[in-house]
Amino acid sequence: MTYKIALLPGDGIGPEVTQAAVKVINLVAEKFNVKMKYEEFAIGGNCFDKHGTPLVEETLEGCYNSDSVFLGAVGGPQWEKLAHHLKPEAALLKLREKLELFANIRPAKIYPSMLDNSTLKKEVLEGTDFIVLRELTGGIYFGKPRGMDDNKGWNTMVYSTEEVERIARKAFEIASKREKVVTSVDKANVLEVSQFWRNVVEKVHKDYPEIKLNHMYVDNAAMQLVRDPKQFDVILTSNIFGDIISDISGMITGSLGMLPSASLGKKYSLYEPVHGSAPDIAGQNKANPIAAISSAAMMFFHTFEMTKASEIIEKAISLTLDEGFRTADIATQESKVVSTTEMTSMIMNNIEKIFAEEAIGVFLL
Ligand code: NAD
Repeated sequence: MTYKIALLPGDGIGPEVTQAAVKVINLVAEKFNVKMKYEEFAIGGNCFDKHGTPLVEETLEGCYNSDSVFLGAVGGPQWEKLAHHLKPEAALLKLREKLELFANIRPAKIYPSMLDNSTLKKEVLEGTDFIVLRELTGGIYFGKPRGMDDNKGWNTMVYSTEEVERIARKAFEIASKREKVVTSVDKANVLEVSQFWRNVVEKVHKDYPEIKLNHMYVDNAAMQLVRDPKQFDVILTSNIFGDIISDISGMITGSLGMLPSASLGKKYSLYEPVHGSAPDIAGQNKANPIAAISSAAMMFFHTFEMTKASEIIEKAISLTLDEGFRTADIATQESKVVSTTEMTSMIMNNIEKIFAEEAIGVFLL
């Protein structure tokens, strides 16, 4: 089996963390006897410098012709003064739109040895492992009419049956590979659009009787996330609520350098760390590669449907953190501070160890 991955390293630390992810993908692919073919394309500020636009047709074509897309990060101070549509970040929005990536997934999982990095108490956090599934291409960020004049401003929150159905289906499908609980977050006590959302989610749920479905108002969900995050498995929600909820969830589990993400559509998928291009540390081999490597684990899980490969990467990250290795952004006084490339090598060593141990396990059986 050969998979084609379009690589969009981007700006700042983007290329450094992309390289880290590629090394890990190659190692795991080799272990599972799968071949990876990469093609690299320009995006963001460096693309603007070369072509006068942050996203070129060639990049889009490259993404259309691949099995998946991996993106590093875009942006930097040198491009901040450009017109809105020429800014590096505009390329991301256009890419998501062109690839019709309607489902955004952000996991909130705490690695045992990182429990002290969160602002929440250890006993509240221990065992937290849920994902936020955010509808990404509809809702109030895109609804019309929108605008403002001297006296008022207005936006429209609108969802069609098709838009809610496809994201709800995705939530139930993902939950079926996890703990089988979906919590749909809305504001159905006040908003008609949320009542509509709830009705459609319930209709879709009939096709997934093995999954438990709860509904929760968004204000209560915000409270529950910091009160008892362990209660969640898959949180399904709309664009604006997901925007807020996923940031709360991200911070429950610690640093920006640790947060992966996936954006899925019907045909295409894109994986990227949540963090930006971190211009302050770019080119210094200091970036934390874990968000990017964990995004690669998500690629194995969601696109290549190689659950075991994904689990092994996550386990190797966890073991490396247990051993006390930290990049500077997550270091404590007791940590052994390592560079981007060193952290990547430590994780790869642990992947090798896990394979070796599992092979011994098979042998003993
Ligand atoms: P940022 O995420 O780049 O950095 C915020 C802080 O976190 C910085 O101190 C940085 O050093 C640190 N940091 C981020 N990722 C890290 C990592 N992997 N390892 C260690 N430390 C890390 O956010 P910002 O500074 O607000 O934005 C910088 C640029 O990135 C801007 O141009 C912004 O528009 C862009 N941006 C891009 C994306 C994206 O590509 N998806 C997302 C957010 C911001």
